[in-house]
Amino acid sequence: MDALTPAALLRASPLPSLEARILLTHVLGWRHTQLITRGDEALDDLSLRRYRALEARRLAGEPVAQLVGAREFFGLEFEVTPDVLIPRPETELLVETVLTALDNLSRPRVLDLGTGTGAIAVAIASMRPDAQMLALDRSADALAVATRNAARLLDSKRPGGDVRLLQSNWYGSLDPALRFEAIVSNPPYIASGDPHLSQGDLRFEPRGALTDEADGLSAIRTIVAGAPAYLAANGVLWIEHGYDQAAAVRALLSEQGFEQVRSERDLAGIERISGGQSPG
Ligand code: GLN
Repeated sequence: MDALTPAALLRASPLPSLEARILLTHVLGWRHTQLITRGDEALDDLSLRRYRALEARRLAGEPVAQLVGAREFFGLEFEVTPDVLIPRPETELLVETVLTALDNLSRPRVLDLGTGTGAIAVAIASMRPDAQMLALDRSADALAVATRNAARLLDSKRPGGDVRLLQSNWYGSLDPALRFEAIVSNPPYIASGDPHLSQGDLRFEPRGALTDEADGLSAIRTIVAGAPAYLAANGVLWIEHGYDQAAAVRALLSEQGFEQVRSERDLAGIERISGGQSPG
C-alpha cells in the first residue's frame, strides 16, 4: 500500500477541515500553504502517530488551542495553556475600542484586570509602543503564561517599557496611588448555572476565568465599583460581558457616576462590551 499523504489524511479526517489542518501543520512544523505544495509527500510514521493522537484528543473535546499550545489574537500568536482562557475573536473589539480611546494621549497608562494569556495587554502594547501597561491576574500560573507572551511578542526596547505583571485579585494588591488613562477587563461573566460551562472548549478552560460562581455580574460589579479611584481625569473603563448583560453593565456604570456610558457591538451584532468615562 502507498504511504499516507497529508492530502489523503485531511480528506479522510472526521474533524472540521480547518481543525485538521491546524493539528497537522503543528505536527509537521509546516505552514498552511505547505499542506498544498507538499500535500502528496509520504507522511512519516512518527508524524502520523502524533497527528492521530491529537486528533483523538480533539474528538474527545480538548480545545485546538490547547492541543497546539497557541491561538492567534489581534494578529499575534499567543501561547495558550490549560491555565488561561483561550483568546476569543470578539475580544479584539475591546482592544480596538481602548486603542481608539487612547488616540490623542501620549504615554497612556493602561491597566488590564484578569489578563490571563496577556492577550489584551500585549495587543494594546504592540499597537501603542509608548503605552505603560500593567496587567494583573490572581492566578500565578496565568501570570507565567502572560509573562512569556509579553516577552516573546513585544519589543524589549518599547518606549512604554515592559508590560508589568502583578498577582492580584482585582484591585486587592494594587497600589492605591496608581492612576490610569484606561482600565480594561475581560472578566469571568458566565453565571454559575449556565449550561455552556459544561459544553465545548469551556469544559477544558479554567473555571475561574469563565464564571464568577454567582449571577455572572459579580466580578463586573467589583471592577466597576473600584475603577473610579484608579482612573485619571477623563480616564475610561471598558469591560467585555455576556450577550445579554449590556443593559445591566451600563446601569452599573451609570450608578457609579460614569459618563458617556455606551456599549459596542461585536462582528455578530451582539452588544459585547460596555464602557464609560471616569466621573472625574
Ligand atoms: N467569551 C467566553 C465564552 O462565552 C467567556 C469568557 C469570559 O467569561 N470572560 O465562551
